[in-house]
Amino acid sequence: MAKSIPDYFAENVFNDVVMKKRLPKNVYNTLMKTIRNGQQLDMMTADIVANTIKDWAIEKGATHYTHWFQPLTGSTAEKHDSFIAPAPNGMAIMEFSGKALVKGEPDASSFPSGGLRQTSSARGYTAWDPTSYCFVKEGSLYIPTVFLSYTGETLDKKTPLLRSMQALSKTAVRFLRLFGNENVTSVHSTVGAEQEYFIIDKKMYDQREDLILTGRTLFGAKPPKGQELDDQYFANLRPRIAAYMQELDEELWKLGIYSKTKHNEVAPAQHEMAPIFTTSNLGTDQNELAMEVMEKVALRHGLVCLLHEKPFEGVNGSGKHNNWSMATDDGQNLLDPGDTPMENLQFLTILCALIKGIDEYADLMRISAASAGNDHRLGADEAPPAIVSMFLGEELDAVLKAIEEDTVFKTSTKAFEIGVNALPSFPKDSTDRNRTSPFAFTGNRFEFRMVGSSDNIACTNALLNTIVSEELSEFTEILEPHKNSDHFETEVKKLLKDVLKKHRRIIFNGDGYTLEWVEEAKRRGLPNYPSTVDCLPHYTDEKNMRILNKFGIYNESELKARTEVLLETYSKTIRIEARTMIEMARKQLLPATLSYIEKLCGAVDLKNKIGMTSNTERKMAEKLNDLADAFYESIDTLESLVNNAAEIKEIQPRAEFFRRKVVAEMERMRTTCDTIERIMPSEYWPIPDYSQMIYNV
Ligand code: ADP
Ligand code: MG
Repeated sequence: MAKSIPDYFAENVFNDVVMKKRLPKNVYNTLMKTIRNGQQLDMMTADIVANTIKDWAIEKGATHYTHWFQPLTGSTAEKHDSFIAPAPNGMAIMEFSGKALVKGEPDASSFPSGGLRQTSSARGYTAWDPTSYCFVKEGSLYIPTVFLSYTGETLDKKTPLLRSMQALSKTAVRFLRLFGNENVTSVHSTVGAEQEYFIIDKKMYDQREDLILTGRTLFGAKPPKGQELDDQYFANLRPRIAAYMQELDEELWKLGIYSKTKHNEVAPAQHEMAPIFTTSNLGTDQNELAMEVMEKVALRHGLVCLLHEKPFEGVNGSGKHNNWSMATDDGQNLLDPGDTPMENLQFLTILCALIKGIDEYADLMRISAASAGNDHRLGADEAPPAIVSMFLGEELDAVLKAIEEDTVFKTSTKAFEIGVNALPSFPKDSTDRNRTSPFAFTGNRFEFRMVGSSDNIACTNALLNTIVSEELSEFTEILEPHKNSDHFETEVKKLLKDVLKKHRRIIFNGDGYTLEWVEEAKRRGLPNYPSTVDCLPHYTDEKNMRILNKFGIYNESELKARTEVLLETYSKTIRIEARTMIEMARKQLLPATLSYIEKLCGAVDLKNKIGMTSNTERKMAEKLNDLADAFYESIDTLESLVNNAAEIKEIQPRAEFFRRKVVAEMERMRTTCDTIERIMPSEYWPIPDYSQMIYNV
């Protein structure tokens, strides 16, 4: 009989239950204090914890341990050490000290740092993050860690997130006191990241150098059938996909990830996995882990999981919907409107803090989703536009209008005055779920839809937490003098009215895919940064630097370093893509075209000899010949552009050159090649086409 899920759920995770069962009571309590309040762990306790984790991990089959971290490369990093230590008799014992648990010193020199290491120290270290659980996987104990330089500068994605969570907790607790929440001692941000992905047959994948090297198809004519029939979304699962998803769920559950929803997505071969939300910290680790498991499980099924934002042109790309909210330690969801007038007032104030924050720092949200891969998605007519705006739904929007205009909000059943009557609740799904909005309120949380499918969600959540911290602390400054006074409500209303008047422009409930919206957004003065290179220079804008500094997320050099790394990654990504195109064109696609032209010419020759007409062959050969000429020229042009880019020493101009010149030539080359592909017979085309790739599982 199959094991029941609760029996094996989290069986590979060293979580609260295991800790409580295995650790001596006083050690457990000390560790909990560290986990909950960030209190330093003394070495004696660390030694006991380490020993207990080691015994548990060995029982689970582990021979090694690794500090697991998230450097700026975009993937996770790990280096495995075995537990073995020499015994005096020439034998081995299994050993794991508190020191080895708490701190590691990987050779950091090969990780991107944006110049930080030169200015500080050559080495970095990893430090255990006890707020995320250790787990066992593939024979190793994984210890979630942060990665810092010796002078304490961040070299990873997790540290800024943890810092932002701390800042948010502090500011939110103080803010909540204003509304009579005396018992709340901490607030944490929560995240549920819906993960989209493509699945294709490995046999197809193996024949495509572009997929292997860049994760996306750089050539490929559109198939006769795309997603126009909407027959893939929520369609029943084909057997291989169903088997894959079943095993994926089991693997995720064993790792304590609450994989909840699975379904087919809009594009052919596209699917989604959504977990149940958790704290941003754990949610980030789990999302990184989930992506890895998705890729590995696929291979066991002879499949390949593609996490790239845009593996196939002409059909939807993949995103990662970042559902975000805040939860208090006494169980409130701060984006839940609540049942009493006071709770509603608190909710509306937080909502207005978000409205103000997203309006003032729209560029930061855009930056948080910036990557070469995601550039194909944002602003295309299937993903949220590159313009950040907020969707609240009609009802909530009407409530805010009433506040702004000092009128009473009426529903069919009741009239509502802020702070006096309880708001009608906004059940999830009550309003039309606007799918075109980048930042949508969905009843009890916000859904930020810009994040790319392969991206780490830490950055998005770190920036969002920081923005909210800034606005909540500003509101607190204004309202605190009126705390407990009779006119507190009046002051709140005044503040909200003021905020709405100034920041209403960020709210947009219409269709974000239209050209009219682009125009309208421009009139409203909302920033529109179509690409990574357009938005990144704004990372270090004074206002952004100010809040990131203020809450201790990044200092100036850290922020500059991040920007550099992101821009460099952008340039490198495009360069790899361009070189892959050149190689595929020279080694596979152009030769195939030429040999088919030769074949056609041979036929013309032969037919002429025996006096047959050969119009078709001649016309096809001529057409292909012209295209081959253009293709050849494009290859040369692209190559010299890539070389030219190498000459540009400054980081930003180089990235811009890649964006404006290299990408443009890549597009031209692709158009030429795709036209050729449409004419060529399959047996002459050396790589699988779109239909073979996306309709084969
Ligand atoms: P939909 O596709 O309709 O947006 P899903 O059920 O696929 O909905 O995904 C919704 C996601 O939002 C899930 O990951 C869910 O756990 C998450 N979520 C729900 N409530 C919260 C919350 N308070 N904070 C963060 N995420 C949440
Ligand atoms: Mg969603």
